[in-house]
Amino acid sequence: MTTRSETRTALDHLLTEIEHRNPAQPEFHQAAHEVLETLAPVIAARPEYAEPGLIERLVEPERQVIFRVPWQDDQGRVHVNRGFRVEFNSALGPYKGGLRFHSSVNLGVIKFLGFEQIFKNALTGLGIGGGKGGSDFDPHGRSDAEVMRFCQSFMTELYRHIGEHTDVPAGDIGVGGREIGYLFGQYRRITNRWEAGVLTGKGQGWGGSLIRPEATGYGNVLFAAAMMRERGEDLEGQTAVVSGSGNVAIYTIEKLAALGANAVTCSDSSGYVVDEKGIDLDLLKQIKEVERGRVDAYADRRGASARFVPGGRVWDVPADIALPSATQNELNEADAETLIRNGVKAVSEGANMPATPEAVHLLQKAGVAFGPGKAANAGGVAVSALEMAQNHARTSWTAARVEEELTHIMNDIHTTCHETAERYDAPGDYVTGANIAGFERVADAMLAQGVI
Ligand code: GLU
Repeated sequence: MTTRSETRTALDHLLTEIEHRNPAQPEFHQAAHEVLETLAPVIAARPEYAEPGLIERLVEPERQVIFRVPWQDDQGRVHVNRGFRVEFNSALGPYKGGLRFHSSVNLGVIKFLGFEQIFKNALTGLGIGGGKGGSDFDPHGRSDAEVMRFCQSFMTELYRHIGEHTDVPAGDIGVGGREIGYLFGQYRRITNRWEAGVLTGKGQGWGGSLIRPEATGYGNVLFAAAMMRERGEDLEGQTAVVSGSGNVAIYTIEKLAALGANAVTCSDSSGYVVDEKGIDLDLLKQIKEVERGRVDAYADRRGASARFVPGGRVWDVPADIALPSATQNELNEADAETLIRNGVKAVSEGANMPATPEAVHLLQKAGVAFGPGKAANAGGVAVSALEMAQNHARTSWTAARVEEELTHIMNDIHTTCHETAERYDAPGDYVTGANIAGFERVADAMLAQGVI
């Protein structure tokens, strides 16, 4: 019988090896640490998980593709970007996960996102494996024609690696409905196939699911509501700070309002807006979705209730709940201290890994309910899986039906994480609950399917 401390030593050893084998990938190291550090109790309790090679296989992607993406701007100049697709684990279903177009993208970032996606997708219970991709291309300030040429060039290489039964990309930062449209068009042209299930996040009328754009934000608020219920409270009348101003942030703010809470902030890389009356969603959507502008324009046009704080951080604004919805490591130890000082009750991650490990530790120690992204933001990929199901059946569901399914899925994920944490002597620790519950599903499938 292996003890927890022997298991922990073996996992520490493996983490050191991961750092050596994957140099200069700090985000991937961070994600691997975060998961492996919570697995000792389950590996000690179930000896089959200690089988040599299981965890080693789990941290090594099944396939990693890196390719050149040349494209011409509107002046005819040639640019060369780098494209990635990391197909991490397909034990539970086809690789599934978004594409991120952002200047910060590199292999380590895509590997961290792909690794997170394995457990997140397992938690949805919908039969999807984990993968992620993207490029260091930055769509900001590019014309539609430039974005189209980039997407076409990207897909001209990616098409050979994906398929509805193989690997199904979707959006992430910098990839929304417009980009998915151009990517789908090029895939269809090259393959001469109407294969709707090869991409999710498609437009209405050509295979997209209702509620997919809203799903990540709505799902995160539902998860936060479930955590609050566990504490005997609800979202009614609570003040919320939300970071980001993309798709996740916008629909987080919308769902908070629907449940009677008041979101008073949003942000982008230039700073944040605080609006005492609560964020006016029509104005924010107009600026971000129609004009593709910056959040300072919101403060300019909103009037006296709002002000723009250049370079500031939303975590300075006092609130009952915080929903980081921008990007990785956007909420650090000092931010967590500020939130705690201001009496925050719950923090729920709409983005992937937005809180640093130090911040998570502090929040949990202070008794703040903390929803890790791989559970709290799983609503997006869950509705992607529902989009695949609709595509397969050549049908489309009503918004009400999709939202009902989403609500069930988020409540199930919450219950699973909560119960798993209790089972492993970590009551209220959703990080441990999410990691162990996701791990058990993937590990069981990997063991059953042999050394692959
Ligand atoms: N990029 C989203 C995520 O982080 C969605 C992925 C998908 O829909 O496949 O989960």
